[in-house]
Amino acid sequence: MRVSFHAVTLLVGVLGMCSAEKTCEQGVNCLLPNCMCPTTKLDLPIRRTPQLVILSFDDAVTITNYDFYQELSGMQNPNGCNISMTFFVSHQYNNYSLMYDLYRHGHEIALHSVTHKPDIEHYWRPANYSVWKQEMEDLRTMVTRYGLVSRNEDLGWRAPFLEIGGDEMFRALYDQYALYDCSWTSLKYSGWYVSPNDSKTLPPLFPYTLDHNTEFQDCQIGKCPKNDYRGLWVFPMVDLQDGRGEPCAMLDTCQGNKNDAGIHSFCDENNVYDFLMKNFNNRYHSNRAPFGLYSHYSWFKENDCPDPDNDAHRKGYKRFLDEVNGMHDVYIVSIRKALEWFKEQVSINDLDYFEPFLCNAFPPKNHCLDPLDCIYEDVLGLNEIRFNTCHRPCPANYPWLGNPLGE
Ligand SMILES: [Zn+2]
Repeated sequence: MRVSFHAVTLLVGVLGMCSAEKTCEQGVNCLLPNCMCPTTKLDLPIRRTPQLVILSFDDAVTITNYDFYQELSGMQNPNGCNISMTFFVSHQYNNYSLMYDLYRHGHEIALHSVTHKPDIEHYWRPANYSVWKQEMEDLRTMVTRYGLVSRNEDLGWRAPFLEIGGDEMFRALYDQYALYDCSWTSLKYSGWYVSPNDSKTLPPLFPYTLDHNTEFQDCQIGKCPKNDYRGLWVFPMVDLQDGRGEPCAMLDTCQGNKNDAGIHSFCDENNVYDFLMKNFNNRYHSNRAPFGLYSHYSWFKENDCPDPDNDAHRKGYKRFLDEVNGMHDVYIVSIRKALEWFKEQVSINDLDYFEPFLCNAFPPKNHCLDPLDCIYEDVLGLNEIRFNTCHRPCPANYPWLGNPLGE
């Protein structure tokens, strides 16, 4: 956790940005647990490195997707404790009491903007520091007030549509004590991509901090940061190779095999399973960089197959998870917990005593016993909008960007 005195942090930030030093040497100018250089190799031998698997879901938590998340929550890691997942929530349609329920059972709540506006070209791409800051800050106010997420927690972030906003966005993250960004994709360090320039394949990239931004990671979508940000983590979205051999960062954009009956989708659960297993093995048998499966719930429900109810995505995904969940060196953890591991890089043999992966000592207390359903008319161009909150009473107005408390 960074020092929370704003002035001090600002000063350190400014000094950090002016630094001419553009090398990052682990153990020399960058020390764990707060600083990690970008790398594709750890000191720990591979056979003693746990394979971390990350499951994340974007956008609102709703009564439609909650049961699916609950079903996945039942899995346990090799230490006998429940798995944890990461939810990048946006405000509209988010059911804050269901979100809170995931949170109190050990899942991670992270930020994904208040508005999630669909206009990338005119809103997100030109967004300046104050737009990014307000989209982050107001949502943070909302998840803490309506969803009872602890005010003391530094939260993670994913940019809508993975359209990262360069230094304007990273500066806003840094100024708000964000824990990490997880929207920056990498094809170069995917572990399978063959660069046409030198016909080489580079191992997958580990998470790192931006203390000494050497612009190590390739820049695929949006604008990448050039400045340094002390202690701010990048959790790279390492590209998967889809059923057609093409890169994809989110499962939603991964296309099915050529012999699948859909135009884009996987229609055969065996193809989903094979695709996930192949990508997993690629990670597991190289350097064991975290294996991230990033998706929207809609990927499990919608497809363009002749039989849209085939459930191939869900079945293939579940079969894959059941299999890797039975492996003694695979841990399914939230991004927050994965970063805790990177700070210490403890051997697989010592994971039974690694605090961040341990179970809750007691059943988690429920502080949202009486959630409210608030109804607003004629907002955001809609006749009616509902908003479920743990906080009482209902805000006078529908909470939104610029008015997160709905005053
Ligand atoms: Zn989204």
